[in-house]
Amino acid sequence: MQGHKAQGAQGQLDMEGALTARDRVGIQDFVLLDTHTSETAFLGNLKKRFSEDLIYTYIGTLLVSVNPYKELDIYSKKQMDIYMGVNFFELPPHIYALADNAYHTMMAEANNHFILISGESGAGKTEASKKILQYYAVSCPSTTLLDSVRDRMLVSNPVLEAFGNAKTLKNDNSSRFGKYMDIQFDIQGDAVGGHILSYLLEKSRVVHQNHGERNFHIFYQLVEGGEEDLLHQLGLESNCQHYSYLVQDECANVTSINDKNDWKTVRNALSVIDFDESDIQHLFGIIASVLHLGNVQFEADSKGYATLNKNTELRWVSTVLSPFTVDHAIYARNALAKAIYGRTFTWLVNKINDSMENKEPSRKTVIGLLDIYGFEVFYVNSFEQFCINYCNEKLQQLFIQLTLKSEQEEYEAEGIGWEPVQFFNNKIICDLVEEKHRGIISVLDEECLRPGEATDFTFLEKLEEKMGSHPHFITHKLSDKKIRKTLDRGDFRLLHYAGEVTYCVVGFIDKNNDMLYRNIKDVNKLLGDSTTDPRPSSLLGLTDILMSKEPWYVRCLKSNESKQPGRFDDVLVRHQVKYLGLMEHLRVRRAGFAYRRRYELFLQRYKPLCPATWPHWRGVAAEGVEVLVQHLGYLPDEYKMGRTKIFIRHPRTLFATEDAFEV
Ligand code: ATP
Ligand code: MG
Repeated sequence: MQGHKAQGAQGQLDMEGALTARDRVGIQDFVLLDTHTSETAFLGNLKKRFSEDLIYTYIGTLLVSVNPYKELDIYSKKQMDIYMGVNFFELPPHIYALADNAYHTMMAEANNHFILISGESGAGKTEASKKILQYYAVSCPSTTLLDSVRDRMLVSNPVLEAFGNAKTLKNDNSSRFGKYMDIQFDIQGDAVGGHILSYLLEKSRVVHQNHGERNFHIFYQLVEGGEEDLLHQLGLESNCQHYSYLVQDECANVTSINDKNDWKTVRNALSVIDFDESDIQHLFGIIASVLHLGNVQFEADSKGYATLNKNTELRWVSTVLSPFTVDHAIYARNALAKAIYGRTFTWLVNKINDSMENKEPSRKTVIGLLDIYGFEVFYVNSFEQFCINYCNEKLQQLFIQLTLKSEQEEYEAEGIGWEPVQFFNNKIICDLVEEKHRGIISVLDEECLRPGEATDFTFLEKLEEKMGSHPHFITHKLSDKKIRKTLDRGDFRLLHYAGEVTYCVVGFIDKNNDMLYRNIKDVNKLLGDSTTDPRPSSLLGLTDILMSKEPWYVRCLKSNESKQPGRFDDVLVRHQVKYLGLMEHLRVRRAGFAYRRRYELFLQRYKPLCPATWPHWRGVAAEGVEVLVQHLGYLPDEYKMGRTKIFIRHPRTLFATEDAFEV
């Protein structure tokens, strides 16, 4: 991947880079969209490209991707080779170009990077993250010794997807957990190891699925694909209909999913990541036990206590006297199933991490990949959606901080003349959810500390009292209690950055009390900052992990709601372009500077290119830089000198400078 190979890519360039082809394929970098910075022009360009199967477009170095819902022939090894080591803007936009650019910057500057992939459920985040991982695994320099680490990184995907993804109404392969993966590179640029952080698995899915949704894939894979011997050993029938956790919504079979084939993939993958036969037996023994547990039924005895139903497969424990009612017994059964599954998932992630661990003490740099579950709105939204959407809210906040806000603050601090760009800052919504003593999570936590007295409805009343006048919080007021009673439900509505969501409070107290209680703290720990979680552990938080790295962005857009190939729904895409802040980002980018470096660092890197600065510049660094760029022929409009840094308008200028090394 070292070195630049722009020539080899010329064929591709002719395809799209040529101005004559512009009308047909649109413009590949929105920054170059001449005078048209309107939303309509932006959408027109996206749509034009989409209709030609060009799903990627840049806004500077940010990559916009529109889900094509069909296989495109753009992810072959040949394509990877084309993008290797080629300057970012010399080829049509591609996820490989972004991956390659992050990699080369990491190598040149010996620092850490991360790629933030965002977008709503079904927009293509997980697919994007897989493409990036594949690119690194296939393209980085290789030694036989390391091949096994790479294989493990690659196969960790199908395994984690089997246990952590499920069919939802939005996406047949929806991530139901958040994933942050570090890919570690050694000083030669070899991918030498990986580490995964997972968080907030949606365990409630194990025992309950909404209409039209499924449980986690692994259950169906095992039951449909498991070998006869194995199923026999586990006491399982080869029929999903037999298991109540799998057929609650009669949606076991989905055309886009082949459970039998996926089973084979997962089974093979497990042996690649060092699972021996006994690990595998244990793992599927546990998965089977969850299915059995789901089939344990209860009925009330003469005193109203739960006893095991005569038909249940666990008749042998029926002598146990339980002080539970049937409802309580079902509740306890489900809690157990969720806890077992949650722990198994954690164990699995740990095992995968062990197998990808690089034990060499040498210096490493990393590229982090963040792929979480996207923003989602269903007909009924519960605590799970509240957590997921809050996570997305935090990511949007991070994006705003790192791009729109810090960018503009930096211009100000550096004394660069600048016309501020207005943008919607979603901090107000993050605060509404997480503020200490006042936010929704605090109110929920407080209610959870009043066992026996607090209910989901007292929680809602407290929310109404405290948040009633907040511009992003809407609810039936207390005076509407009658309405609520008749509806026998309670809900509140949040105006998220991505849209309005009505949350049904039923189950909030319970789920918050459950393991999720700890998990929602994890969201703070992971995505929060020290003001929301003052404990030292927050240092491990993802915001901190990310803030210490150089960011790259992939913004995924969903092309249509019905998962149809090639269909571009203008209204849906326009909405996403709006809430993702893409127009604001474009405005900042167009008026701004793509690249900036402290004078000392810039001089250090490029001083060999000018006789006056080589081997040493003895004066003030800023003056040395001025001499250097004059010598290189930078035009006045191409750069600005700030207080401590040089700002370069377009990456092209910098690429030319890099290329000067090779002349
Ligand atoms: P969630 O938040 O629910 O996890 P997601 O953003 O991760 O959603 P994906 O699972 O990546 O969404 O994508 C959903 C589906 O869209 C994929 O299963 C695939 O069918 C299709 N898809 C996404 N990206 C691409 C692509 N680049 N090429 C072809 N199909 C794609
Ligand atoms: Mg996903």
